Amino acid sequence: IERNHSVGGAASAFKTGALTIEPALHQTADPHDPSEPKHAILTELGLLDEIEWIPISPFFSVKGGPVGQTFDLPVGFDAAHLALSTRFPKSRDGFARLLGAMEQILSGVERLTRAGETRSFGELLRAGVGLRGLARDWRLSTADVLLRFLGDDEAAKFAIAGNIGYYTDDPRRLAWPFFAMAQGGFLKAGGRFIKGGSRVLTMKLAKVVTKAGGSVLLGRDASVVDFDSSGHPAFVRHVDSRTKADEQRIAAKQVFANCAPHVLARMLPPDKRAEIERAYVGHALSISLFSAHFGLRVPPPKLGLDRYSLAVLPDWMTSLSQTGECSRMFAADPGSRMPSFGIANYGAIDSGLGDGPALVSVVGVDRFDNWAALAPQDEKVRRGRWLDAFEKALDREYPGFSAAVSERMFLNARSMHNFMNTPGGAVYGFAPLPFERGIWAGLPRSSRTPIPSVYLASSFAESGGFTGAMKSGADAARMAMKEKTR
Ligand SMILES: Cc1cc2nc3c(=O)[nH]c(=O)nc-3n(C[C@H](O)[C@H](O)[C@H](O)COP(=O)(O)OP(=O)(O)OC[C@H]3O[C@@H](n4cnc5c(N)ncnc54)[C@H](O)[C@@H]3O)c2cc1C
Repeated sequence: IERNHSVGGAASAFKTGALTIEPALHQTADPHDPSEPKHAILTELGLLDEIEWIPISPFFSVKGGPVGQTFDLPVGFDAAHLALSTRFPKSRDGFARLLGAMEQILSGVERLTRAGETRSFGELLRAGVGLRGLARDWRLSTADVLLRFLGDDEAAKFAIAGNIGYYTDDPRRLAWPFFAMAQGGFLKAGGRFIKGGSRVLTMKLAKVVTKAGGSVLLGRDASVVDFDSSGHPAFVRHVDSRTKADEQRIAAKQVFANCAPHVLARMLPPDKRAEIERAYVGHALSISLFSAHFGLRVPPPKLGLDRYSLAVLPDWMTSLSQTGECSRMFAADPGSRMPSFGIANYGAIDSGLGDGPALVSVVGVDRFDNWAALAPQDEKVRRGRWLDAFEKALDREYPGFSAAVSERMFLNARSMHNFMNTPGGAVYGFAPLPFERGIWAGLPRSSRTPIPSVYLASSFAESGGFTGAMKSGADAARMAMKEKTR
């Protein structure tokens, strides 16, 4: 049941004029890697080979700020170490230890998964040995670990974590195990873009549902969950999302909430609502993002824009921990300082996004509060000014950029809030904060909720991004099937 008129949430597509906009996917970890969570899911659904996964290389590039000239971070731990230590020799040893720690965590977790599947004691032992470092550093932040290995070499930190805006706006508030797994996964196997855009994946997933006898309802707001006398779900009610009328209901013994738990809470009777609120509401939310989309009449490489994924740092930025300052800039019109931003240049790959103008998206951290108090007209004006500012910034870097723009659009944290229906426009569920308890306590959240037969199947369950959302959906499905057989 989806309230929008297209399926997929953030993983969708829309058009402005002749330009097809990919609103969310820049890259996702390679699902061909058997240890990557999407691998098992897509294989089971028969979709892995139905999708063309376009390789992204280098993993990302970064320029400006303390980095200076463009640095390309290649895929592969050895290649990454060579490139990093050649360009930033002061941190050669630190990089070796940092990359070594990431690699060890990845292989330890892989072994642990294999040991679970094969029930092999030997694998379990080897996993345990590999995971000693992770256990020791479980509660550290990414800033702590970067400081340990790279000291005050901020250029080196940007070189390995210049895409931090995809996770958080503050490395002190980013759990090290989370960063090590996510960034390590990209470093190990590289990222992929789905040819045709994330809409291709979503349409195929919807087809899996309909082929299995299910239905996909669009333009319908899930509004109420009714429970039977034993406290289990009985019905889900839904209404037309525009008129809020035409209520219908579906019998449902198990419910998978892909919306934020804050939205789910409002659908529940008071006692259950209180339980969900106690479990989730008030927890720190992930960042939101802004995105400025430009359609170009000429291939971007002709203007010098040849990298696919590029982080651009302003001169005033000297430290990775200043990323948060960027997210607050949208509380005012553009001034003398620009924020750091990432470029996803779909014109540099075989994106399959259509025959229209080439899409170049500029993305960075934003907050709902920046825009919340503005009247619609004032918001429109400020959005326009920021769009102009980014266009000018790109024109300075790549002369001829402005003249080549035929379509453009600016989305902010409020747009994310409106489209995804998430509090604060959060795009990755809850904030991936450093863990408060030791490794023995496991991950702080899962797809299981305090209410029997009601599951979270979204970025709010475990972690965000395409991989996190799909993994939590699959985990919820497995839990529900187990519950059903019981
Ligand atoms: C600009 C941008 C760039 C990004 N780049 C990347 C990237 O490169 N790689 C990556 O992995 N991730 C990226 N992400 C993040 C990723 O898109 C999201 O984390 C992920 O898609 C969230 O999936 P989800 O299923 O949890 O939620 P959503 O995609 O938000 O889906 C939730 C759905 O629930 C619907 N809904 C809510 N309430 C109701 C209701 N009451 N009734 C019916 N329907 C309801 C919403 O309409 C929405 O469609 C990016 C996001 C953005 C915005």
